Amino acid sequence: MAKYKIVYDREGCIGVGSCALLALKFWKMTPENDKADLFGATRRKDGKWELVIDENDFFVNTEAARNCPVNVIKIYDESGKEVC
Ligand code: SF4
Repeated sequence: MAKYKIVYDREGCIGVGSCALLALKFWKMTPENDKADLFGATRRKDGKWELVIDENDFFVNTEAARNCPVNVIKIYDESGKEVC
């Protein structure tokens, strides 16, 4: 099964919440700072968050990424190519 990597630049999140509406299983708003959290993600040295998902969870997260008004959610395939 294909794997994808979500990379989330949480610093740039403006708290609109569309990701949490579209992909509830992965994204949740945090009331304390009005940003979204990506469940299970790990923080990288560059401050971004990343999470590997399989293809079953790809579509719902592409919806979250495409509807993010500030484009801080990116998805990459196994070769490292940005696919969303
Ligand atoms: S859609 Fe984008 S800006 Fe809105 S809460 Fe999610 S990550 Fe943040």
